[in-house]
Amino acid sequence: MIVLKADWEIEKMRQAGALTAKVRDYVAALVRPGITTRELDEAARRFIEERGGIPSFLGYEGFPASICASVNGVVVHGIPGEQALREGDIISLDLGVVVDGYHGDTAITVPVGKIAQRAQQLLDVTRASLLAGVAQAVPGNHLSDISHAVERVATEAGFSVVVDFVGHGIGREMHEDPQIPNYGPPGRGVQLRRGMVLAIEPMINMGGADVRIRGDGWTVETVDGLPSAHFEHTVAVGDPPDVLTAP
Ligand code: MG
Repeated sequence: MIVLKADWEIEKMRQAGALTAKVRDYVAALVRPGITTRELDEAARRFIEERGGIPSFLGYEGFPASICASVNGVVVHGIPGEQALREGDIISLDLGVVVDGYHGDTAITVPVGKIAQRAQQLLDVTRASLLAGVAQAVPGNHLSDISHAVERVATEAGFSVVVDFVGHGIGREMHEDPQIPNYGPPGRGVQLRRGMVLAIEPMINMGGADVRIRGDGWTVETVDGLPSAHFEHTVAVGDPPDVLTAP
């Protein structure tokens, strides 16, 4: 069941989204060769708590950190730890914040120092696929118009779309209906309307689409070991779409 939000709830989600975006951009700016993913996680947690938010990933189904830190061939749900970033890596930072009972959820993939041209292209295309999906979040469109727009941008550039993980509705819960695949034909699924708030999050691989989960039960990695990128915004359906996690 899709929970529609009243205008006053969307204003609360705007506050949650704004803090979520601030943390994302703060942590992204800390990324440099030599820093560990644990240091990034600790910085994120401090930043959130100092501003009155709750890091929603921490303890979620037992997840041990406030951010997911996914390096190179890790697609999503990487657990922060002692891994030090190296020049040429890419790192996906995914994080969620609760403010006053409402969630924000966002992700970005950033380069560590100077990266290969193909890796930069993967980042650019994944961000563009997110924005193409967001542009479809207008009343009267169908859910899969978002999915199709994401897929088109990614596949036209020769990259593949992860199919095992999807975007989601968001509100009082981090994960609400509907699920939002990043692929598929247009014009399918529920018709979008005002009051829907969606976390749109393409996960795009440089190589094949296949992924697997490591023995830690969390870390999702590409089977071929090639890099993967992840960008996410929390968006209220509107004309134009209302990006709650914009910078
Ligand atoms: Mg999400």
